[in-house]
Amino acid sequence: MKEMSYLCGVLNQNLVTLHTMEENKNMSRREFIRRMSFGAGSAVALMAFEPFKLIAKEQPMNPADIRMTYRVQHGSGEQISLLGFGMMRLPNNQEEVNKLVDYAIEHGVNYFDTAPMYMGGQSEVLMGNALSRHPRNKYFVATKMSNQNQRQWTLEASKQMYEQSMKKLKVDYIDYYLLHGIGGGMDNLKGRFLDNGVLDFLLKEREAGRIKHLGFSYHGDVRDFDYLLDNQAKYHWDFVQIQMNFLDWRHASMRGGRRSDADAEYLYDKCEKTGVQCVVMEPLRGGAFGRMAQELTDQLKAVHPDDSTARWAFRWVGSHTNILTTLSGMNRMDHLEENVKTFSPLDPCTEAENRLLASIADQMSGFPTIPCTTCSYCMPCPFGVNIPGNFAYYNEAVTNHTLPLPDKSDAGFAAAFAKFEDGYKKALADKKQWAEQCQDCEECLSKCPQQIRIPNQLARIVETLQKK
Ligand code: SF4
Ligand code: SF4
Repeated sequence: MKEMSYLCGVLNQNLVTLHTMEENKNMSRREFIRRMSFGAGSAVALMAFEPFKLIAKEQPMNPADIRMTYRVQHGSGEQISLLGFGMMRLPNNQEEVNKLVDYAIEHGVNYFDTAPMYMGGQSEVLMGNALSRHPRNKYFVATKMSNQNQRQWTLEASKQMYEQSMKKLKVDYIDYYLLHGIGGGMDNLKGRFLDNGVLDFLLKEREAGRIKHLGFSYHGDVRDFDYLLDNQAKYHWDFVQIQMNFLDWRHASMRGGRRSDADAEYLYDKCEKTGVQCVVMEPLRGGAFGRMAQELTDQLKAVHPDDSTARWAFRWVGSHTNILTTLSGMNRMDHLEENVKTFSPLDPCTEAENRLLASIADQMSGFPTIPCTTCSYCMPCPFGVNIPGNFAYYNEAVTNHTLPLPDKSDAGFAAAFAKFEDGYKKALADKKQWAEQCQDCEECLSKCPQQIRIPNQLARIVETLQKK
């Protein structure tokens, strides 16, 4: 692992809470599926290593007690918290969002990421309301041009989206602005940004200072990624957002039966060679690490009995020096508290820990799960199928070895099948959400950032349910 670079707050006692993500394991399967159903070079290097101490919680926190790890943005010298707040899913309650944002800012988190398409536009509103209660120099706003829908491919529609973001976020400049979800192929890239003048417009907005940093988030066709970075002399990207975690590092493959074009290692290395810092999304692989098979979790527990898999995953990502920030969707206070603890300061992975995580990734890649991150971008399905709910249930059965397999003895198979079928009916209580309702209309296909062949994967589930 490359040399670490940290800029940490003053060493002092830290607020530590004992909540952990292990609570998730106590959530019933049905509750889990229900939650999945949405109906829809571093310039400054200081290191701080001090064991966490438990102290009584006191409010408000003294700024000198903030121990968050920061990275320095190369161009501006801004200090960005290595933990970024991803706001794709928030409680639909302003007071709750305010509390989360207040806690985050108080503990040194200063990067907040949203997009017009999150929560049907409500995420920008909630985030704008919460952040605007704080001094503007306390936070960095990241939002995106989410003009994925072909109806939005005109310059006028895209400009309108950009201006709406400013209004909803209650800002007169955006710190980090992204072309959202690059990777649909060159025709898509040209249609959304190049031929219609949208990218030229955004470059001018950056020149005018209304966009401080311009970048893009990437999913999919690596030719788009290469094209944009190979033209760095023309575009001067300030950052690039990539999906990176210890599984996708070398196993971002076989997404929905189709080999992905690039592993995270390729994306990260190319950004680093181009001199562009990375923002990381999906550090927990859509929660997949929290649902790992017990035998894999046991290997991690043998080294650090008290650490959650989330803490392992964050430490692994943060150990890479070309990462500017790591986005985590935190819609519960206990998750936010644990994540703040992990990054305050970040304890980088050792070589031995990296080897263990690489081994875990190799083992995980042997499980025939569907690589769904439960992002719900594909929803709603016009025929009512609960796509992430179906995939979450199937994946849980794979990792828990409860998938009925034909090579079991007749008696074993019958029992496993009954259990699988019964669990499916409980998890997806409404028959309208079942995989069998899929009409293969393919409307969901282009919406999936993981490029999962959704109808084919739903067919896998239907087939499993018909093996009786
Ligand atoms: S392909 Fe199937 S799951 Fe996808 S939108 Fe159509 S009916 Fe729904
Ligand atoms: S868009 Fe893809 S990754 Fe996201 S929930 Fe749907 S199938 Fe899963």
